[in-house]
Amino acid sequence: MTQPPPLPPQDPHPHPQNAQPQGPPPLPAQGQPSPTPHVPSASDRARQHVTEQTRTYPCGSCGAPLTFSPERQDLSCGACGRAYPIELDPAAVIVKHDLQTAMSELAAGSVGLASVGGDEHEVLCQSCGGRTIFNGSLTATRCPYCATPIQRDDVQNSPERFALDAIVPLHVGEPQARESIEKWINSRWFAPREFKKYRTLGSFTSVYLSYYSYDADTTTSYHGQRGDTYTVVVGSGENRHTETRIRWRPASGVVRNNIRDLPELSNTGMDGSRIRDLEPWPIQAAVPYTPEFVAGHLSRTYDRDPQDVFSRNARPRIDDQIDFSIRRDIGGDHQRIGNKNTAYGMLQFMYLLLPMWLLTVNYDGKPFQVFVNGLTGEVQGDRPWSKVKIAAAVIAGIVVACVLAYLIWGRQ
Ligand SMILES: [Zn+2]
Ligand SMILES: [Zn+2]
Repeated sequence: MTQPPPLPPQDPHPHPQNAQPQGPPPLPAQGQPSPTPHVPSASDRARQHVTEQTRTYPCGSCGAPLTFSPERQDLSCGACGRAYPIELDPAAVIVKHDLQTAMSELAAGSVGLASVGGDEHEVLCQSCGGRTIFNGSLTATRCPYCATPIQRDDVQNSPERFALDAIVPLHVGEPQARESIEKWINSRWFAPREFKKYRTLGSFTSVYLSYYSYDADTTTSYHGQRGDTYTVVVGSGENRHTETRIRWRPASGVVRNNIRDLPELSNTGMDGSRIRDLEPWPIQAAVPYTPEFVAGHLSRTYDRDPQDVFSRNARPRIDDQIDFSIRRDIGGDHQRIGNKNTAYGMLQFMYLLLPMWLLTVNYDGKPFQVFVNGLTGEVQGDRPWSKVKIAAAVIAGIVVACVLAYLIWGRQ
C-alpha cells in the first residue's frame, strides 16, 4: 500500500541546490490516476443505493445480526461464531464526481440522493447535532461525539443525501483500540480521575466519519522575484568586513500540479486539527462502498457539502502546494510571489467513510475527544487537566523546595 506524501506541510524554502530555475517540472501525480469523471444518473445512484441499504445481515445458522470484523475483514456472528466472507463485485469501480456538475445537480434537485432504508436508522443528537447511522439495534448509549445520553426520541428516519462512493474498511479491532487508548490516557500526567473512568462516564466506539477526497489538476501562471545571496567586502581598516546581500531579479513562469486523493473531513463539531494529525490516510485502499463494512459499527453522514469543504479546507491546502511549486520553479536562495492565476483543468471528488475509534468524555461541561486511527491505531486527542492534581503537585513542589532550602541554608 503506497501512501501519498502528506500535503502540506512542505518546506516553503527550498534549498538552492534543489532549485530548478530552468523549466517547471510538474509534480509527480500523487496516487493512482483517477478514472474518467462519470456522474451516474439520479436513478442509477438511487437504485444502487436502495439495493445496498435494504440488505440486512442475519446469520444463516442462528439468525443473530452479523457484524463486520476488523481483524478478519469478514462478517461475523457474535452468537454462534460463524463467519461469512465479504465478496466484493470485481467489476465495481469507485465513481468520482465533477465538483461543479455535482453542485449544480444538488442545486437543481436532480442529484442522485438517497435515504437510509431497511435496517438502518439515524440518531440525531439533541445536544451537539451529530447524526449517526447505525444498523439493526443501537448498542451505543451515549452520543459518540459529545457523550450525552441518547434518548429514544433521537432515533429517526433520515433525510435524503448524497450516496456514498467509497469506504476504507476498519482494521483496528476493539481490543487493540482499547489498548492504544489506555496507553495514551495512562501516559497523560494530571488527567483527572473522571477521564480515566471513561469506561463508565464516556463514550468509546468505532465510528466511520465522512470525508470528501479531492483530485485536482491545476495550471498556475505567476510573476515574482528570485533572490540570490552574495557577499561583498565593505569598509576599510578596522571597519573592513563582509556583508551578505540579496540580488533580486524578476521571475515568471507556469507550474502544473496534479493533486490526488486529498481527504477533507465533512463533519462538524470535531477537533479538526487533531483529526488532521491522523493523516495521511491511504485513500488508495478505499473500495467501492458496500454496507457490509459498517455492519455493527456507527457511521456519521456528512454535515457540509463538497463545495463548502473544498472552498474552506481543500483549496487552501492546494494553494500551499501551488506556492511550493512556484518557489521551486523560481529557484535561488529566496523567492517572492507577486501574483498568480490558477486554472483548474479537472476538479473532482468522492464521498467516502474513513474508520476511527472515538473516545468522548465530558469534563467540566466540555466534551473532550480522542481519536484512534482505525487503520494504524495511532492516537490523537485532547485531554482535560485536573486542577486538583495540578494544585496538589504545585503544593508538593513548594513543600519539597522549602525542605531543601531549609536543609541547605536553614541550618547554617
Ligand atoms: Zn450465528
Ligand atoms: Zn452529541
